[in-house]
Amino acid sequence: MSILEIIQFPHPLLKTKTLPVEGVNAAVERLVRDMIETMYHAPGSGLAANQVGVGKQIMVADVSKAEEEPNTIVIVNPQIVSVSEETIIANEGCLSVPDFNAELSRPAQVTVVGKNLAGEEVEIEADGWLARVIQHEIDHLNGILYIDRLGRLKRQGYIRKRKKALASGEKK
Ligand code: ZN
Repeated sequence: MSILEIIQFPHPLLKTKTLPVEGVNAAVERLVRDMIETMYHAPGSGLAANQVGVGKQIMVADVSKAEEEPNTIVIVNPQIVSVSEETIIANEGCLSVPDFNAELSRPAQVTVVGKNLAGEEVEIEADGWLARVIQHEIDHLNGILYIDRLGRLKRQGYIRKRKKALASGEKK
């Protein structure tokens, strides 16, 4: 297993829609193991394959608390099939969008279908933080960052700050 580099805004792969995985093979399994290790190392509660430079529809998540047992979720080719009308506002951040957080409204519950690592169809009904993480990661797989869902002023404010930081030679 190895820890992969997480690409950061404005890397073009973050804006690129990923492609479905045709079959869960050894290479996919290895990538997923590395993504899980990278997510725990960051640490983050979710990671999409294009954040580690792979344009495939794969996401991992773990929303368990520090005192709980780890509960890793892997979804290959995840698709949201329904969302609740009820929405919820929460503070969101992203490993690919350094030094920024913002409040964002999203549906409170989602149902997602996809495949697990055994290649079996799975359906997950999620609420709470997991619902948010799943939406955030599937957005990634569709080339959408959470800052794309913010108002224009907030988004432009971040982009300006980020460009300044990059120009001054900061890595983060
Ligand atoms: Zn993210």
